[in-house]
Amino acid sequence: MDRASKLNQSLLSDGTTSFKFQINESASDRGDLCLVATEHIPVAQDIICKKQMLVVADSNHLKSTCDNCFLWLYGEIGKNGRIRAAGDAEPSLDKCGACKVVRYCSKSCQRGAWKHHHKAECKIFAQQEKSDEVLRATVRLLLNRKAGIIDDSEWSAFMDLLSHMKDYIEGGDMLKQAISETARWTGWDEADEAFKETYCRVKLNCTAIHSLEHEYLGIGLDPLISLINHSCKPNTYCLFEGSQIRVRSVEPISAGDEITMTYIDNTSDKHSRQLVLKSRWFFSCRCGKCSCDAGNDFDNIPEGYTLDSLRKLIQLASSANISDPEKTESAMLEVISSGKGWPTHIQPLPSLYSRLAIGYHAKRSHSKEVHYLLHLCFVGDPVLYPNRVDPTRVRNLFMLTMALHKLARDNSTAVPELPLQSFELGLVYKYCMWKAAEDAQTSHGENSNLWKALNARLVEEAALVADPQTMLALMATDQMQGDMSKLLLQLLPWAGIDPSCTTAWKA
Ligand SMILES: [Zn+2]
Ligand SMILES: [Zn+2]
Ligand SMILES: [Zn+2]
Repeated sequence: MDRASKLNQSLLSDGTTSFKFQINESASDRGDLCLVATEHIPVAQDIICKKQMLVVADSNHLKSTCDNCFLWLYGEIGKNGRIRAAGDAEPSLDKCGACKVVRYCSKSCQRGAWKHHHKAECKIFAQQEKSDEVLRATVRLLLNRKAGIIDDSEWSAFMDLLSHMKDYIEGGDMLKQAISETARWTGWDEADEAFKETYCRVKLNCTAIHSLEHEYLGIGLDPLISLINHSCKPNTYCLFEGSQIRVRSVEPISAGDEITMTYIDNTSDKHSRQLVLKSRWFFSCRCGKCSCDAGNDFDNIPEGYTLDSLRKLIQLASSANISDPEKTESAMLEVISSGKGWPTHIQPLPSLYSRLAIGYHAKRSHSKEVHYLLHLCFVGDPVLYPNRVDPTRVRNLFMLTMALHKLARDNSTAVPELPLQSFELGLVYKYCMWKAAEDAQTSHGENSNLWKALNARLVEEAALVADPQTMLALMATDQMQGDMSKLLLQLLPWAGIDPSCTTAWKA
């Protein structure tokens, strides 16, 4: 039997997909196999929904992520599926008493993880708190296979994936570093060729797991998901909820079409996209968007700026450290002030604004957070994502909603120049929440944690004032929506945005 038919049997016969697919040999150079729809798929449908074969937190999130259900402590939505309220107890995680590396949100998660994967690996994990997530995932995979926890069909599906080991060896010393680290562990003697190849295969095929708020938490690995090839204009996107992955259609997909997703931020220019794809996944993208876009890296530099300005901004946007947003902000302003103004929708500025919002969020500077999110939601996103229900756009609106809520709660006296009173900010927050819920119904779906949590909060908020049904009906009236949106528009000049040029909610 050839590889594609073997994989069709092992990966697509267990009912994890809601539509019919087939694994085929691929004609493109993005991957040697691909996933193809064999029936029509409408837009905004969950097409794959499954627990990934494994999920592993990166070393920055080991202390804040449950190793079993992948709950992230600092997410806006708590364990009970509700948006966290101000009075909620600070959530916490308990360490595995033996290795002291992984943590759990409950006794049942701890027991579940022990049975599912941790028993086999605990002794080695004790020695590798500082390891990168790919190394930890490789160890988990190998030890769990040895212990018989990963079955033959899943294992052979994984082993059938490409590894690009030769390219990784040529590309640098990442593999050497991993090997030298394993040499220090007692009770580990697997640093052979098979280990190296597994490590490369994990590295090449893993998906980056982001929280709802777009915080990078770690990696997941699943042979079926790995078969979905990249396109800069994809027809699906991935949503992560705990250890679950959901692949949703962002446009109608015809029978015979290949299923694609983006591996990168596809709003950046062609030159940057190709650079990342080549160095990280070893291919040149020839998707529709890449054949249309110009390829010169000067094309996307706004008038009055140089290649050096672009490089500086890229460096600021990609630096991992957002613990000092003020410093990043002043460096950014210095670059921007050297020209006539860098438009908000031209990368890397939107990425940088997004990182600044996250940085200020962590420091609880909610007025700064609101400032950057207003720029994204009203100026950048409508250009970058013309579809109002694009998942990224809805995510930014959700974050704006939460930031407005905190700003209203903190009391506007803390920010004297704000044009709105606390209660007015509260109304704007409810208005944004209403809009976010409306959009999330399509972008994330009625099964998503986001949509359920937003709806539950809307009902709660309405119940504070009157009977919830009456209150929600009142909020839905044109009069009320008009009043609330007028208040929101008053916030825009405060953030330095001309209200007449926003198109955010007109689509
Ligand atoms: Zn848990
Ligand atoms: Zn342990
Ligand atoms: Zn492309």
